[in-house]
Amino acid sequence: MLSRAQAIEEVAGRRFEVVVVGGGITGAGVALDAASRGYSVALLERGDYAEGTSSRSSKMVHGGLRYLQNLDLGLVREALLERQLLVQLAPHLVYPTPFLVPDFPDQRRDRRLGIGLNMYDVMATTRVGRGRREMRSSKEEDEDFYWSPDRHRTIDRDEVLELVPSLASRDPKSAYLFYDCQTDDVRMVLTVLGEAERFGATMLNGAEVTEVTLDAGGRATGVAFVEAESGERIEVGADNVVNATGVWADRIRPEEVVEEEDVPRIAPSRGTHLLIDRDVLSTGDAACIVPAGEGRAIFALPWYGRTLVGTTDNDFEGDIDRPRPGEEEVAYLLEAVNDFFGLSLGDRDLVGAYAGVRPLISTGDPKKSVDISRKAELYETSSGMLTITGGKLTTWRRMAKQTVDRLVEREGREAPCHTAEIPLGMEAREEDLRAPEGVGEEALAQLAFRYGHAARDVLALAREDSKLARPIVSGRPDLLAEAVIAVRREQARTVADVLLRRTRLGLLAAPQLRAAESVREVAAAMGGELGWSRREVKRAAEAWPAAAAEAGVDPAGSLAR
Ligand SMILES: Cc1cc2nc3c(=O)[nH]c(=O)nc-3n(C[C@H](O)[C@H](O)[C@H](O)COP(=O)(O)OP(=O)(O)OC[C@H]3O[C@@H](n4cnc5c(N)ncnc54)[C@H](O)[C@@H]3O)c2cc1C
Repeated sequence: MLSRAQAIEEVAGRRFEVVVVGGGITGAGVALDAASRGYSVALLERGDYAEGTSSRSSKMVHGGLRYLQNLDLGLVREALLERQLLVQLAPHLVYPTPFLVPDFPDQRRDRRLGIGLNMYDVMATTRVGRGRREMRSSKEEDEDFYWSPDRHRTIDRDEVLELVPSLASRDPKSAYLFYDCQTDDVRMVLTVLGEAERFGATMLNGAEVTEVTLDAGGRATGVAFVEAESGERIEVGADNVVNATGVWADRIRPEEVVEEEDVPRIAPSRGTHLLIDRDVLSTGDAACIVPAGEGRAIFALPWYGRTLVGTTDNDFEGDIDRPRPGEEEVAYLLEAVNDFFGLSLGDRDLVGAYAGVRPLISTGDPKKSVDISRKAELYETSSGMLTITGGKLTTWRRMAKQTVDRLVEREGREAPCHTAEIPLGMEAREEDLRAPEGVGEEALAQLAFRYGHAARDVLALAREDSKLARPIVSGRPDLLAEAVIAVRREQARTVADVLLRRTRLGLLAAPQLRAAESVREVAAAMGGELGWSRREVKRAAEAWPAAAAEAGVDPAGSLAR
C-alpha cells in the first residue's frame, strides 16, 4: 500500500471514475472489483481500515446454518458458494474447521438439525444451481478443483472426546460434525485492498468524508474529506460515488433522497465476543455449538491459539461509533459456556473481548434483529450515489459485483466482473519460510496465515534487526517486525491500529497489555518509521490504554483499574 503522504498526493484535487467511501470489507471489495474492471478508483476510510464491523465479526466464512431456520435459502446458498471460492482464492487465509453439535445422555437428539445439515451439504456443492458457464469461465474446467467440505456425519463418543477433550465431564453420546470456515476478518480486508492496489486503486485511511459534492442539477461530482492529521478539507472528483460505510450508511446521505420511505434504514444489532485462554477452555481444533437458552445457540471455536466465544445478537441503541461488550452480554456468554463445559469462568478468565454492530437492514418491520435478513441492499439516490450495505463478510465479493455491475450497466460499458478468478494475496507454505534466530515455528505458521507470501518481508526485517525478531507480547508469536510492516505497508498510524487490527494482540492478550509501558516497544518500532521524537513515542504508547478501554477489550481490567 502507498504511504499516507503519497496517497494524499494521489487523491487531492484529482478525479476518479469511482470513489469508494468506507474501508471495511464491502468498500475493499468494491475497490477491487471496480479497479479490476478498468475503473480508476480511490477509496477513503474515516479511521483505520476494517475499524468498523469488519474487525468485529465472528471471523467465520460460512453459509450460516442458522439462517436455514428462517428459510433464507438464497442467502445460505450464495454464502456457501462464496465460502468455497474464498478457500480457493485465499487458501492461506480461509481454512475449514470441524464444527460439533454434541448430544448428551439426558437429551433427545435434534433430528431437525440433521435435516438442516443435509440441506447445508447439498447447497454447498457446485453441481447444483451454479451456472455451468460460470464454472467454465474459470480457468479450471474440473469441478473438483474447487474445495468442497466433506459431508456432515455423526461421530461417536470417542471421536467427540478426541476432538474436544474438555467435554469429558459431560459424557457426550455422539455429535453431528459439519464443516465451516474461519479467517482473520481484518486480514481479509487488507488482503483485498492489497489486490485492489495491484489493479491501480489508491487507498487512504484517516480520511473522513464529510460531504458529497453536487453540481447545479444535484448530481454527485465527488466528495470532500477531512484529513485526520492536518485537519485539512480536501476534495476529490468522482464520476461515481459508492457509499460503503456499513452501519454508518445513513449518515452519508445528502438532501437528495427521491422517496424517503423507499430507502432502507439501518437497524443496528450488537454482537459481543469473548476470548479465553486455551489452558482454561479448549475446544481442541474443532468448534462447538453451545446452547444458550430460548432456542438460541452460540459457538466456542479455536482462533489464534485462544477460544473465541460468541455471539450475542441484540438490538442496539447505544453509540455505534464505540460499541463495547455489554456487561450483561459477557455474563450471558459466560453462563452458556460454563453450563455447557461444566466450568465456572468469570471476567478474570478472559484474555480479550470485543463487540461489533451489524448493519442490518430494517424495512420498518419491528421484528428483532435476529430475524432481519442478512441480505445486502444496494440503492441509488437522486445524486446518483450508490449505497451498498448489509450482507456478510463472507459475501463481500457478491456485494461488490452487484454494485459495480450497476455502475457498468448505467454507463453502458462492456466490463465483466473478474473477482472470481483473482487470487487474494499469494500463498506461502510454512515450510518454505526461513526463520531467523529466535523465531519459532508457531510464529512462522502465523505469519504464513496472516501475510501469505509477504511473510518473507516480515522475516527479512526480523533477520536484519534482531530486536524486531522479538515477540510483542511474551508467549505470543506476533513479532515486533510486524509493527514496522504495519506502518510501512499498511498505513498504520497508532498503537491501536497495530494491536487491534494488524495483529490481534489487543483481543488475544489484553491483560498483558494493560500498561502503556507494555506497548512502549511497539510505539518505538512505529516511531522509527514515522520519524517520531521520543516524546511522540511516549505519547503514542500512553494513548493505548484509553483506546483499549474504549474498545472494551479487557472486561476484568476495567474492574481492576
Ligand atoms: C458481531 C458480528 C459478527 C459477525 N460475524 C460474521 C461472520 O462470522 N461471518 C460473516 O460472514 N459475517 C459476519 N458478520 C457480518 C460482517 O462482519 C459485516 O457484514 C461486514 O463486516 C460489514 O462490512 P462493511 O464494510 O459493510 O462495514 P464496516 O466494516 O463497518 O465498514 C464501514 C467503514 O466505513 C467507514 N466510514 C464510516 N463513515 C465514513 C465516512 N464518513 N468517511 C469515510 N469512511 C467512513 C468506517 O470507519 C468503516 O471502516 C458479523 C457482524 C457482527 C456485528
